[in-house]
Amino acid sequence: MKYVILQGDGMPDHPLPELGGKTPLEAARTPNLDRIARCAVTFGMVKTIPDPLPPGSDVGNLTVLGYDPMVYYTGRSPLEAASIGVPLGEKDVTLRCNLVTLAENDGEAIMEDYSAGHITTEEAREIILDLKKGLEEEGFTFYPGVSYRHLLVWTGGNKDIHTTPPHDISGKAIGAYVPTGAGAEILNRMIEKSREILKDHPVNKKRLAEGKNPATSIWLWGQGTAPKMPPFEELYGLTGSVISAVDLVKGIGHCAKLRVIDVPGATGYLDTNYEGKVDYALDSLEEVDLTMIHIESTDETGHVGKAELKVQAVEDFDGRVVGRVLEGIKRFRDYRILVMSDHPTPIDLRTHVNEPVPFAIYSSEDESVKNDSFVYTEKSAAASDVYVSEGWRLLGMLTGKETRGSNERR
Ligand SMILES: [Zn+2]
Repeated sequence: MKYVILQGDGMPDHPLPELGGKTPLEAARTPNLDRIARCAVTFGMVKTIPDPLPPGSDVGNLTVLGYDPMVYYTGRSPLEAASIGVPLGEKDVTLRCNLVTLAENDGEAIMEDYSAGHITTEEAREIILDLKKGLEEEGFTFYPGVSYRHLLVWTGGNKDIHTTPPHDISGKAIGAYVPTGAGAEILNRMIEKSREILKDHPVNKKRLAEGKNPATSIWLWGQGTAPKMPPFEELYGLTGSVISAVDLVKGIGHCAKLRVIDVPGATGYLDTNYEGKVDYALDSLEEVDLTMIHIESTDETGHVGKAELKVQAVEDFDGRVVGRVLEGIKRFRDYRILVMSDHPTPIDLRTHVNEPVPFAIYSSEDESVKNDSFVYTEKSAAASDVYVSEGWRLLGMLTGKETRGSNERR
C-alpha cells in the first residue's frame, strides 16, 4: 500500500465579497478535489491547531505528519535550522530572521511588507552576508536561508522572550511589536542597526530601480530550541519522503528522519514547479511507503490578500497537483490519498487562524461515489458531520497504523 498526503497550505478561507460571497475553494474550478470529496472513504473537518498553540505552518505540519504538536512543538525556527543543516546545542535558541520592508509614517516605522517583496534567495544571501559582518557579536550567528526567511542562532539565549510574526502586523506601526523580555534589548539593537546597514544597500538600489520592495530591515521572531522528535518510521512503521520548497516543512522532514527531496524550480509561490513536485514524489514511492507534497502558494496568496491570486493557487493545486497525482498514482495498485491543509489563511485577515479545515481520505480499495452532493469546500466538509478533534490522529486513520512510540504527553 502506498500513501500520498496532498497538503494545500493555508488553502481554506472565509466568504469574500469580491468573490460574490464565496470562498476561494468555492469560487475555484476544482474537478479533481470534488471527485475526491464525492468518492472519499472519509470526508470531513479536522482541527489541526490545538487551541493553546499559535496558528502556523510549524504546528500545522507537525500535525499533518502525525506528530502531536502538544508534545513535540518547540518553536518555528529550530525546525528551519534543521532544514539548512545548522546543528543546535542544548543552550542554543534560534530565531527566524525575516528580511522586511518598513515604511516611514510621521516618524513611525510601519510593517509594509513581511517578505521584502518576495526577495530572491540570491539577493537575500548578499544582504545576509553583509549583515553578518555588521551585526554578529559573541553568541549570535546569522545563517542565510530561502527568499526572505533566514536564521539567527543565539547561544545561551532566552527562549521565553515575546516576539510577533511580521505577517501578523502588516500595515501596522512596529513599535508595539518588537521583541520583549530578558535579552531582547540586544535583538532590538540589531534590528535598529540593520536599518542603517541596509540604507542605500546596492541590492536595494537595484530592487528599487526594478520597482520592487527593498529589504530595509530584519525582523526577529519564532524563537525556540532543538525539537526532540522520534523518527517517523519508529512512530508509524513506515518510510517516507517530503516534497516542499519551504525550509520549515523540510526541517520537520529532517527532524522526522524522512527523505527530504529537493525539486528544481520549487519556489513556494505561484511560479513553482508543480509538475516536478508531483513527479519526484511519485518516483520516491518506488522506494518508500508514504510521500507528502506540500504546496505553499495557497498560503502565500492568503498573506498577500488578493482573492484572484488565491483562486489561481487553488486551481493550480487542483489541476497541476491533485489531478496529476490521481493519474500518476495508478502505477501502484493499492494506494490511499489524504488531502488536507495545515490551517486556513483567510484573505480578509491575511494571516493564519486555528479554525478547523476540510480533509478527505481517498482509497483505491473503493473508488465509488459515496455522496454525490459533496464538493471539496469548507461548507460541504462541515456538513458531512465528520469531525476529527486531534488532527495528528489523521495519519493513523490514513495508514491504519496506531502510533507505535509514545505520542502521548510526557
Ligand atoms: Zn501554513
